Amino acid sequence: MKRYAIYGSSGCGRGVMPLLRAELGAAGAEFDLVFIDDNPQADFVNGHRVLKYEEWIALAASERHVNVAIANSAIRARLVSKCEADGVRFHTVRASNVICMDAVELGEGAILSPFVCLTSNIRIGRHFHANLYSYVEHDCVIGDFVTFAPGVQCNGNVVIEDFAYVGAGAVIKQGQPGAPLTIGRGATIGMGAVVTRSVAPGETVVGNPARLHAKR
Ligand code: UDP
Repeated sequence: MKRYAIYGSSGCGRGVMPLLRAELGAAGAEFDLVFIDDNPQADFVNGHRVLKYEEWIALAASERHVNVAIANSAIRARLVSKCEADGVRFHTVRASNVICMDAVELGEGAILSPFVCLTSNIRIGRHFHANLYSYVEHDCVIGDFVTFAPGVQCNGNVVIEDFAYVGAGAVIKQGQPGAPLTIGRGATIGMGAVVTRSVAPGETVVGNPARLHAKR
C-alpha cells in the first residue's frame, strides 16, 4: 500500500489536502491518504483519518510520502528531519492551475496553491510554500523552508534566503541582474509591505515603503 499524508490538520493542511486528493485520484493508483497531527482535535477531518505520526509510521506500507503543510518554517523543518530519519519521501503538492514557465528548479516537499505562477529561470529550495495567488518572477533564487502567505508578489532578480516568511499581499520590488534585492535568512515581511530595499537576516519589516519593525 502506498501511503500519503498531509502533516498538519489545521488551516494550512486543510487547504492542501483537496489538492493532493485530486492529484492522486486522477493518477488512478491505489493509495491511502490521511492527515498526520501530533495534537489531533478529532479522529476525522474533512473525511480523512487523523493519525499521530507514531501511529502512521507503524502502519505497513510499500512507500510513504508526506507533505508537511504547516506554515511555521521552524516546525516544518523539525518535522521534515524526523520524517527523513524514517525514510519518508517528500511529495510536492501542486494545484492543477499552477503555471510554471521555463527553467524552474523546485526542491522537494513544496506546496504550490491555486493560481500560483512561477515564471522563468527560477531556483527554489526545499519545502517552499507559495500560498494562493502568489507569484515569483524571473531570475529569483529562493532558499529552503521559505513561506509565502497568499498574494505575495515577488518580482524579478530577488534572492530570498532560508526560513524567510513573506506576509499576505506583500510586494517585493525587483532587483537588478548581478545586484539582486535580498531578503535575509529568517526575515519576516509584514502583510501588505512594499519592500523596496534589501532586508537583513532576522529583521521584520512592515509598511509602505517597508521599514524595520524588529530585529532578532
Ligand atoms: N503540529 C503537529 N506537530 C508539531 C507541531 C504542530 O502535528 O510538532 C500540528 C498542530 O497540532 C496543528 C498544526 O500542526 O494542528 C499547525 O496548525 P496551525 O494552525 O498552528 O498552523 P497552519 O495550519 O496555519 O500552518
